[in-house]
Amino acid sequence: MHSSGLGPGILSNSMQPAVFLDRDNTLIANDGDLGDPDAVVLLEGVAEGLRRLDQAGYRLVVITNQGGVARGRYAEADVDAVHQRVQSLLGPPPALSFYYCPFHPKGTVSKYTREHPWRKPAPGMLLEAAEREHITLEASWMIGDQPRDAEAGLAAGCRAILLGDHDEPIDARVVRVETFTQAVELVLEREAER
Ligand SMILES: [Mg+2]
Repeated sequence: MHSSGLGPGILSNSMQPAVFLDRDNTLIANDGDLGDPDAVVLLEGVAEGLRRLDQAGYRLVVITNQGGVARGRYAEADVDAVHQRVQSLLGPPPALSFYYCPFHPKGTVSKYTREHPWRKPAPGMLLEAAEREHITLEASWMIGDQPRDAEAGLAAGCRAILLGDHDEPIDARVVRVETFTQAVELVLEREAER
């Protein structure tokens, strides 16, 4: 459920901030159950934005619910193949690490049919990544297109940016922007103010 490139955070014991990134409709287009690496399409501004965050010293950590595994739509190996494709479209650099949650309480594959502390809005994947990769959560950000992404980020002690328009009430601590590029610029602006 986890894979990573050999970025500097892996090789060093020094603490580092991260930008945690939702995958579907934040980094890549996915309006269904994407399990085919050939169907991966990066969204506008993502390649450039990730390059800028990498150069600013952030670890880049993808945090994605993949309940399609629990629903039998694709296998964990397909998720890994999609992630390899994302990485190959981007570089490296920047090297990303990937965490996904294959569990869902309403699955059809019994092995994966349950609630799990990794499933957003729970913060389990962020906490696991922070421990493995020596990430300073309070200096880190979560960027995503769904309120559950922002909730997971706040629950982990990070700051959170939510993309796009949403009808439901959103925690006032969450910063709202329209585009991925705006989210990246916000992170870099706040970094400059520190
Ligand atoms: Mg999403």
